[in-house]
Amino acid sequence: MVEKAKRRPLISRLSAIVTTIIGVGLLAAAIFRWQQASWGELVWLAGLVAASLIRAPHGAKVRQNEIEDSRDDVQEQALLFAMFLAMMVLPLVELAGGVFSFADYRLPDWATATGAVLQVGYLWLFWRAHADLGRNWSPGLELRGGHELITRGVYARMRHPMYAAIWLGAIGQALLLHNWIAGFLVIPAFAAMYILRIPKEEAMMRSRFGAAYDDYASRVGRIWPGTP
Ligand code: SAH
Repeated sequence: MVEKAKRRPLISRLSAIVTTIIGVGLLAAAIFRWQQASWGELVWLAGLVAASLIRAPHGAKVRQNEIEDSRDDVQEQALLFAMFLAMMVLPLVELAGGVFSFADYRLPDWATATGAVLQVGYLWLFWRAHADLGRNWSPGLELRGGHELITRGVYARMRHPMYAAIWLGAIGQALLLHNWIAGFLVIPAFAAMYILRIPKEEAMMRSRFGAAYDDYASRVGRIWPGTP
């Protein structure tokens, strides 16, 4: 049952490749187009850099943990890849080259400003969720050696703060990047991930933590603080 992570799983190799592409894309966007970018696009770009910096140390640590149970399947990998595309690669491609300008939409300034506020909420919650989950975090659906059920910090207010954070980031992105492909597409992409992943994740947590997870779920809601 215990499966040592000798070979890195496809999901982590895929994310390493995409992260490299994103790094190069980011650099290209910053060098070639930043003066042409709107302020909403610059806020989004700063948010991407900040979110990557929040996640980077956790990504490095998680590779050292052994995997005891993995629920990653083709559907999971496809959803994760779609999120990488919608939340990082496509917006960067747009910022670097304006290739999706045929799919632009217009929003008033107050909507863009709302996007900036949501982006701040996203980054704060994303940071807190990573800090509270610690070494129990993984990009895919996995239980680690010595996995601990976290119910403290922001996990005392909601069971899925990281997904709540990503909702704020996704809605913020659609308000900051006025484009159906680079801005809006992340909303249906994350909706699919949210709907399909949570039942599998919670089943995995119940299989490991049993009554302790049932008790937690009866007290604490999914993403809305205070609603079980
Ligand atoms: N759904 C959570 C965590 C996302 S990271 C959130 O939105 O904040 C995904 C991994 O976190 C899962 O593979 C699972 O192993 C782990 N996980 C989820 N909830 C957890 C909890 N309360 N305590 C410990 N690990 C948890």
